[in-house]
Amino acid sequence: MRSPTPSDPYPFAGQQLPCLIGGEFLRQGKAFANINPVNGRVLCSVTEADAALVDRAVQAARAALRGPWGRMSTAERAALLRKVADRIEERFAEFVSAEIADTGKTLKQASSLDIPRGAANFRAYADLALARPSECFEMATPDGRGALNYSVYKPVGVVAVIAPWNLPFLLLTWKLAPALACGNTVVAKPSEETPSSAALLAEVMQEVGVPAGVFNLVHGFGPDSAGAALVAHPDVNAIAFTGESATGSAIMKSAADSVKALSFELGGKNAAIIFADADFDAALAGTMRSVFANTGQVCLCSERVYVERPVYARFVEALARGARALKVGGPFEGADMGPLISRAHRDKVLSYYRLAREEGAGIVCGGGVPAFGDERDQGAFIEPTILTGLPESARCVREEIFGPVCHVAPFDSEEQVIHMANDTRYGLAAAVWTSNLQRAHRVARQMEVGIAWVNDWFLRDLRTPFGGVKLSGIGREGGAHSLAFFSEAMNICVKL
Ligand code: NAD
Repeated sequence: MRSPTPSDPYPFAGQQLPCLIGGEFLRQGKAFANINPVNGRVLCSVTEADAALVDRAVQAARAALRGPWGRMSTAERAALLRKVADRIEERFAEFVSAEIADTGKTLKQASSLDIPRGAANFRAYADLALARPSECFEMATPDGRGALNYSVYKPVGVVAVIAPWNLPFLLLTWKLAPALACGNTVVAKPSEETPSSAALLAEVMQEVGVPAGVFNLVHGFGPDSAGAALVAHPDVNAIAFTGESATGSAIMKSAADSVKALSFELGGKNAAIIFADADFDAALAGTMRSVFANTGQVCLCSERVYVERPVYARFVEALARGARALKVGGPFEGADMGPLISRAHRDKVLSYYRLAREEGAGIVCGGGVPAFGDERDQGAFIEPTILTGLPESARCVREEIFGPVCHVAPFDSEEQVIHMANDTRYGLAAAVWTSNLQRAHRVARQMEVGIAWVNDWFLRDLRTPFGGVKLSGIGREGGAHSLAFFSEAMNICVKL
């Protein structure tokens, strides 16, 4: 696998990205511009699917359920998914180029996380689907002959997969791979901000012989566009969505009429808790990652950092030193942090930087926009920022900002910090840093979240349950949990 260099062209320069529907690449109707957040330049144009095109995609997916795909064994489907993974790796440099052009993320991250994890998702779910056990229950009957119950797992049908822009390929494939492994057909809609890696995946699906209509790709926006048309479509059986909590709520309302199955991975306002007995350097390095990774645009990022009072001042100072030392720049500049996804998102994050001042925060570092004196000034770069001194009721402490920013607050007792960490409407992730084994287990278990790390952050085993509580989501994905969502379990009861 070769990583791209600055001389590798963006794979779709000057082109119009098509939708893929029923095995056909379609460029028709309206188009919108795909903008590079490093310099504000247009990368390509993208076909926007309207309701009619979305309907065609859903019908193609429904027809494909009755075609060769519907008759394939799990082993045959798994073999095809492995070919998808192999082909992604063969076209690795193009995938990385596409992802960094759309997002501006660092070459290092795209080539070590986003694209490899995308390929890994297909292999992991090929393996998991093949290894899936069935249940069997013998039961007594009044006539003494008994009965045997066993479970079979069928596809749910047509699944809508709707992905966000922060980890575009990783999060699209995280849902797509298990959906396909379980025999469903899919209409996928990537974020309007990040259509390119999905467009390459559409080519890969064709190249490895995934039957027409099994994977359909529609591009477009949410409201009044492809997203809204897809989630309201009566022939879509299930929706797997990752994005903002408010969007999840809108989708839920729209999906209610046809009682679709929903799996939601939504926003977060995650806490990191650093006890005084923690390995200071490890906690600092881990918190630097958990605040600033992907320019703070990971749903799991820590935006609330709680530090036990004896090490609070030292920790804030060290974190600020680390933040000031972060190199902000484009994907090929060896930077630690790229831009935000767009100018619009930067406006939102900057509005929170302003609000923090109004709410009385101390701005320990950052708080503004870097000046480069070149074309990057037309991009969406922003400074890594550390806030202190806000009350827990401040909006900056309660609302998801989704940028390279955290608020750091001191605490005095375990009980107090557990209360502070849980006092939020979100419940996705937490990171607990301590060298006390008993406390580690005790505190981690009391976090009202879907995933709590002890002495690390973003360490993922794809077999484990993943999801959030409260506003952070509905249901769990990962391993057997994904297989459960993307299948209809059926009981067959045989009288003996
Ligand atoms: P978003 O909700 O704005 O958009 C996500 C996707 O939904 C996009 O494809 C968008 O076009 C589509 N969409 C928007 N409105 C829609 C509608 N009414 N109907 C159908 N589709 C619609 O989210 P975003 O800004 O792309 O992503 C950032 C958010 O995602 C953050 O809140 C972040 O925390 C969350 N996120 C959560 C997880 C997780 O696993 N829990 C992972 C990554 C991101």
